[in-house]
Formats: sequence, structure tokens, C-alpha cells
Amino acid sequence: MDRRSGVIGYVDDRTGERLNFTLPLSTRIGPVMVETVSRVSAQNMNDILELTTHCIRCGFCLESCPTFVTTANEIESPRGRIYLVRSAVEGLLDWQKDVRPHIELCLGCRACETACPSGVEYGRILEGAKEKLEQDRPQFSKLALLNATTRPSTLKAQLAMGKLLPGKRIPTPISMLLSKQKPEVDQPTPQKLSPLPPLIHSQLKPVQGQVYLLEGCAMRVLFPRVHEATRRLLRRIGYEVLETAQGCCGAMHAHNGYIDTTKSVGRELLIAMSREIPVIVNSAGCGSTMKDYGNILEDTAGATKFAKRTFDASEFLFANGLMEELASASGLPVTATYHDACHLAHGQKITSQPRELIQAIPRLTYVPLQEADMCCGSAGVYNVLQPKMARSLVERKYANIEETGARIVATGNPGCHAWIAQAAQEHGKKISVLHTMELLEAAFCGLEPFMN
Ligand code: SF4
Ligand code: SF4
Repeated sequence: MDRRSGVIGYVDDRTGERLNFTLPLSTRIGPVMVETVSRVSAQNMNDILELTTHCIRCGFCLESCPTFVTTANEIESPRGRIYLVRSAVEGLLDWQKDVRPHIELCLGCRACETACPSGVEYGRILEGAKEKLEQDRPQFSKLALLNATTRPSTLKAQLAMGKLLPGKRIPTPISMLLSKQKPEVDQPTPQKLSPLPPLIHSQLKPVQGQVYLLEGCAMRVLFPRVHEATRRLLRRIGYEVLETAQGCCGAMHAHNGYIDTTKSVGRELLIAMSREIPVIVNSAGCGSTMKDYGNILEDTAGATKFAKRTFDASEFLFANGLMEELASASGLPVTATYHDACHLAHGQKITSQPRELIQAIPRLTYVPLQEADMCCGSAGVYNVLQPKMARSLVERKYANIEETGARIVATGNPGCHAWIAQAAQEHGKKISVLHTMELLEAAFCGLEPFMN
């Protein structure tokens, strides 16, 4: 590091090019040491440091990174962020001044993990860095947003209040407080529940087992129809949902640096779903975190075993007979495409099962989507916290969807669902957005109940 100019640099192993980051002159330059001042332990800092050493700076991840593709700036790339985090752990950079802005612009989409030939666990580096940033300097407005979004009763009260506010967007003063930018996201609106035709049980497979279904926090308030479609599909393959009182899984808190909250709500979920039966999840972000409970909860109370019996709904339906059931469905004479939710494609490596299920719908024409696994910019509460970048990414996503000529786009995560649906509304609603579960259930009972 050049102390006078504030330039830090390294050589790109692939191209031989020297890459420089120019940092503020006020950057604190400390000894190479692990900081222990925060509640993030030295052990955790050493773990982060170790994870960063796996990066060989080859640059294969760059073109997969939405923020690098948008800004063409090395410091907004996975390689750049890993280098910043490593330098901060070593005491060469200031966490808050030098690292925070670039970590906050990261979507946490983990496309870089999929692209990385060295197996760098970027998601763990990111969560560790966010935890360090938030514990050293908590962002109380962000914490309030997370708490409001992940408590169903608070979210319902907000929705009621939202109806009294003028305009569709979240209020500008709130957006300015959270992001210092004008809002791009509309106030959330719950799905309307249209009655679905009753299932004729005499025509269904006999019940062969029970499963839990994660109802989630925002999901149960905003997307009740997706849960209904999932329950019906599970019943079609012979599984009943065992109802249980349950709360949030803690995914949003984990993705934003509040791991302690994830630990405590995760342990409650383990108790609520203690029977040794599969746990079905239809929200990609939640499923990705729950499959990592072994790490996050440090395997207390059998977290690893719980993680192993957690399945994305598309993964479970595919493995347990829905392909065969679809063969006798009435089907849908529509053209459809599929957008990969990041935490399904990159977090859980589930890409083929939802596509195969959709393509098995009789009479449906499937068209592939360009850049299907590039983030749409929703990313939990990212579109509230980083509205400009989120807007740029959703416009890119929508243009690709339009290009397919599809009438329906399916996806497996509530955040992508709502954000792309907002873009569709703004572009004249020529395209409908459905959760994969809704599209699959529509193959049996028709599209109409799912189209409002
Ligand atoms: S994160 Fe992986 S792909 Fe990206 S530069 Fe490092 S080693 Fe290469
Ligand atoms: S998580 Fe996504 S936005 Fe963040 S560095 Fe990786 S690819 Fe880029």
C-alpha cells in the first residue's frame, strides 16, 4: 500500500494487468493483525481470512457479477470485494470507510461462487464481513426494516397503513433514510386469493407421508396463493402438510449481517419442526439459509440433520413423482420462460428440476431466457437499500424476458416475483409473473385463478 497516494493494488494472475484501488487518504493503516474489538471474534476473523486465501485472483467470476457488469469497476467485483475484506481483516483498510460501501452494493447473489473454479465460498465471506460491519456500527434503520419485514403482524399493520399513503412507491423520506436515494420499490401488496376448484380426493394418490411446509414471514402475508398451490401439488404426489405454529427462518437477517437473530429464530424453527419428516420450502432465500443451518447454528440441536431434510419445493416434487402426475394434467396452451432465483441456482444449485417440471406441462411451449441466472436486483431488501442498482438490474432482466416472447415468467422466490411483477406492471403488463408452484398447479386446474 502506498501511504501517500492511498492506492492499493495487485496483479491480475490471468491477464498480468495491475489493478489499483484508489482509497481515501484518511484510510487508517494499521498493523497486520486480526481486530478483536467487536463481538465478532478473532476466530471468526481468522475464518474469514482463511476463506479469502482460496481466491487466486483469476477473474473468472467477473462477468458473472451483476454489479461488475453494470459498473465495469473492479472494486465492485467479487475479486475486488474479497481483496478489500482480506485487507481489512489484516488491518490495512478501514472496515467502515473503505469496505462497507462495496459490501453494501453486493447483492449477495452468489453467482460468483458458481463461476469460481477455486471453490471460493464467497457467501460465507460476505456474511462474515456484514456481521463485522453491523456489529461494529449497527444500522438501526436497516434493522428496523428487517424487523418490520420479517414479523407478519408488523407487516400486516404496515400494509394497512400503506393504503392510507399517497402514491404507489414506498415513501421518499423512508427511502432517503435507508438509502439516500429516491425509492424505486412499490409498497408491497398481498396476492388476491381466488377460489381454486376443490381437489377430488378419490382421484388422487393415497397419502403416503407427511411433510412440513415453511410458511415464512413475508411469504405467508404476501404470497398465500403460492402456499396453497404448493400444498395442492404435495397432495397430488401423496403428501400431506403437517401444520405447526412456526415463525421466521432468519434468512433476511443472515443475509444482512445479523447472524445472532438467525441463530435464535432458527433454533425455534428446529423445535417447531422437530419430527423427522421433510421440510418443504418454496422461497429460495429461506431454503438456502435453512440448508446452511448446520454451519450457522453450529450444529446445536441437530441443525445439520434438519438441514439435510430441508428441500426446495421444486426439488422435492421432482424427486417424488410430479413429472408422472403432470403427464395426465390438462396442461396449458401458453408460452413460458423461467428466471433462476439466485438462492436457488447459486445458493442451492437447483436449476434443472424447475425447468424439467415446467417443460413437462402438456401443451406448454418453453422458451429459454438469456442471462436467466443473473440477479434481478430484488435480493431480499436490496431493492429498498440500493434502489438505483436494483432498478438497472430489473430493467435488464425485463428486457431479456420480453425478448423471449413468453406470456408467463416463472420463478421460485417471492422477492424476484414481486420485483419483476412490478416491472411488468410498469411496462404494460404484457407478461405475467407466477411462482413455479402456481404455474405447475395451473397445469391441473387452469390459469385463471392465478392471473390477478
Ligand atoms: S473468486 Fe474465484 S473466480 Fe473470482 S477471482 Fe477469486 S478465484 Fe478467481
Ligand atoms: S454475490 Fe453477486 S453481486 Fe456480490 S460479488 Fe458475487 S456475483 Fe457480485
